[in-house]
Amino acid sequence: MQKGFISMQSENMFPIIKKFLYSDNEIFLRELVSNAIDATKKLQTLSSIGKATGELGDLTIEIKIDEKNKSLTISDRGIGMTEEEVEKYINNVAFSGANEFLEKYKGVDENSLIGHFGLGFYSAFMVANKVEIITKSYLPDAIPVKWSCEGNTEYTIENTTKEDRGTDIILYISEDNTEFLQEERILNILYKYCKFLPVPIRFGNEKQWEPQEGENKDIQVEVPRIINETHPIWKLSPSELKQEDYEKFYEKLYPYSLEKPLFNIHINIDYPFNLTGILYFPKPKQQVNFQKKKIQLYCNQVYITDQTEGIVPEFLTLLEGVIDSPDIPLNVSRSYLQSDNNVKKISNHITKKVADKLEEMFNHNREDFQTKWETIQIFMEYGILSDEKFYERAKKFFLFKNINGNYYTMEEYQQHIQILQKDKDDNLIFLYTTDTEEQYSQIEAAKGKGYDVLLLNGMFDMHFINLLEQKSEKVKFVRVDADVIDKLIEKGDTFITKLTETEQNELKTTFENVINKEKFIVVFENLSETDFPVSITHPEFMRRWSDMQKTTGNAFMFGANFEKSNLVVNTNHPIMEKIIHEKDEENKSLLVSQLIDLSLLSQQMLTGEALAAFIKRSLEILK
Ligand code: ADP
Repeated sequence: MQKGFISMQSENMFPIIKKFLYSDNEIFLRELVSNAIDATKKLQTLSSIGKATGELGDLTIEIKIDEKNKSLTISDRGIGMTEEEVEKYINNVAFSGANEFLEKYKGVDENSLIGHFGLGFYSAFMVANKVEIITKSYLPDAIPVKWSCEGNTEYTIENTTKEDRGTDIILYISEDNTEFLQEERILNILYKYCKFLPVPIRFGNEKQWEPQEGENKDIQVEVPRIINETHPIWKLSPSELKQEDYEKFYEKLYPYSLEKPLFNIHINIDYPFNLTGILYFPKPKQQVNFQKKKIQLYCNQVYITDQTEGIVPEFLTLLEGVIDSPDIPLNVSRSYLQSDNNVKKISNHITKKVADKLEEMFNHNREDFQTKWETIQIFMEYGILSDEKFYERAKKFFLFKNINGNYYTMEEYQQHIQILQKDKDDNLIFLYTTDTEEQYSQIEAAKGKGYDVLLLNGMFDMHFINLLEQKSEKVKFVRVDADVIDKLIEKGDTFITKLTETEQNELKTTFENVINKEKFIVVFENLSETDFPVSITHPEFMRRWSDMQKTTGNAFMFGANFEKSNLVVNTNHPIMEKIIHEKDEENKSLLVSQLIDLSLLSQQMLTGEALAAFIKRSLEILK
């Protein structure tokens, strides 16, 4: 066996770093500002433990464009570097001073620093053909140095003059990247990535109106433009915050949003990893927006991405807000991020926290929970459908609403309908409606018999009840118009028909001659005299599949037959005898047509030409 070292040629690595390290070249600014933040944080740490003496002074990081020299400078008043440190940290690609600092000063909060890989600095060469570092260490009597490199493996380092402690990184922007010399462009990048970084960042000036003493006119003055809010509220403890703080912060995150969120969850995890964040539940919209770009992901207050797929559980993408975790690596590539084990753990943990919070809301103030149910429901259903673990948690406080507006948990509802709504196999029948207008007459019929009807008109409801049937024993969901109610819920008092077999055959033919056989199947039921003479039912299984297909858009596999409904003829209704004994064929078919149309009408299924024909026929009869 042979062992060896793989060697890497820095000449070859360099172009790779420049080109492929980050998908987006604007990231360079995020990296360099992060380094400036780290340098400042290190200095603050050293000062707090007495290792750095002297005044810290103003620590604001400054970004400047120099149009004449076509350069962009990032200046900090942080820890700075000695010549040896530049040699070590900068000339050694992929050697991170952050890790070394943490090693050296054990006990320092490791989450306070952003850097880790030792690669970020070189992203400068994605946009610059020459980079200079002018730096002076915080150490007493430090000699300032200037490092310079033109994007190849050669560099120069020399002594220079610099008044102040800290580092200036000067990028000479290359010809094809001049956009990074435009104020607007830089401002946008800073707002995107740096809005919540922990050290003030200044970029030029902005105009502000200031009241003048003794005058009733404000005058416009120029003040330094500070990009960031150094203490974003997700980093604070929920006990320090009021509801309006959360609302104000929401406005900051989504300045163009017209509506306030309904409520929010403040996540604060410090074990087994560090994660903070605020998730907002938006008000339900007509159209659910699955655009997965509403949650912003931060790493130590540095914005990383709003493409949270694979990081934030799928169903949470209906929410808005921020998630910040130092354990989400400032990524090198997205595929890396998604396969990262930490990231998976984070996703599970967020789910757990959200379930905790919802359960707490439910236990703590159920009435309030119910008023928010409409919003919570769609998200919970999505969660239950897509995440087994979430289902286990959520089933305790998932609510059903009936048509009277009462709410029940699954367990409560089972209790509620237990006595009345069972079929002959002892299954509990959850009767539901998807549309109180359209299914009005069947709802009334069910209510008349003392049954309870649930309202299930949510987007995922059909998928959801499918899942519940699989998960819970002896529970069946049936839409009010799926079958004749007394057949569904076995009452024992089944009726026997008074008609002879010949009469039945004759009756069937009469109906079949009138009905559209493409759409309906004639079935006979021996109901009570007071039930409807003719009604339409839509068998649950087929109908539900077609409903589900509407939300998923999948092609249906059962072919043409699934849209057929049942035309239920109540053989015991007195009108059937009248039809049978009617000698005039024309009158007979008139009666049958009227009956069928009336049942269609009651379900809003009679439209267009058929409706016009019905009205005409009815008027004829009235004459
Ligand atoms: P990382 O930030 O991931 O450690 P970088 O390549 O961005 O990697 O930087 C390498 C090292 O160079 C840093 O860890 C730090 O020690 C040093 N460094 C970079 N920028 C600065 C700066 N502005 N001030 C002081 N040191 C810096």
